[in-house]
Amino acid sequence: MQVVRTRAELRAALAKLPRPVGLVPTMGWLHDGHRSLIERSRADNATTVATIFVNPRQFNDSADFEKYPRNEARDVQLLEDEGVDLVFAPDVAEVYPPGFDTRVSVGEIARPLEGAARPGHFDGVATVVAILFDLVAADRAYFGQKDAQQVMVIRQMARDLALPTEVVTCPTVREADGLALSSRNARLTPDQRAAATVIWRALSAARDAWNGGERSAEALRQRMSSELATEQTAVVEYVSCADGLTLHELDTIDGPALLSLAVRFGEVRLIDNELLE
Ligand code: AMP
Repeated sequence: MQVVRTRAELRAALAKLPRPVGLVPTMGWLHDGHRSLIERSRADNATTVATIFVNPRQFNDSADFEKYPRNEARDVQLLEDEGVDLVFAPDVAEVYPPGFDTRVSVGEIARPLEGAARPGHFDGVATVVAILFDLVAADRAYFGQKDAQQVMVIRQMARDLALPTEVVTCPTVREADGLALSSRNARLTPDQRAAATVIWRALSAARDAWNGGERSAEALRQRMSSELATEQTAVVEYVSCADGLTLHELDTIDGPALLSLAVRFGEVRLIDNELLE
């Protein structure tokens, strides 16, 4: 496995690797969620390229960016063990050279939920993913359902800009107690980690209600809120039951719907979702 840091090295390395190429973009501090994307890419493609880049432009909070966990040596070892062929781990100036002054801004689908809670976040995501799609020119790129709105934003961008890379969504990987794996979980204290299981209980309670025939979106939002309220340390940012295609909040569920939420435990902000279809 080769680790490259510049655009030129990346292009040179790619030229020698067989197609099709799968791309797995990450911000590092890798876990089994990332591993599942790599496995899928390896199954689908002759070459798998992973990127490790903590993208400053997608952090609307600079403290969050500073505190984002990083351990490149460990990540590189994990990628090697997983059979990745090429790793692109650029520094910030390689991705955004001096004078860089372009922003990719996706419209409606990027506005609610995470877009509303984290102004500028999806512009940062779309901009860096557009750069990576161009640099790697992959046949397919793999993203987690864990960040449901992010995949929708990237799909919209790829379609609108006619980028040739196919966007593939992979299921959310969870701990045994239901907590979605996230690099941010590393920042939870043991008490916060225990408390964070309320997220999955809230999503499951709403799903159970839906399975039982409940079609009022407000009833499902209430179900999630009341479950989250059982955990006093959970600070709820939003709960949502939205149209699965447009992400507009629903009154009545009559098609695919996305349950989603954002909750803070101390300084750590966690998101999760469950698709009803
Ligand atoms: P990140 O390093 O957090 O930016 O995540 C890189 C990719 O891994 C994104 O496409 C995420 O959606 C995906 N991902 C993160 N956590 C999980 C998870 N628990 N299950 C599946 N995919 C995940």
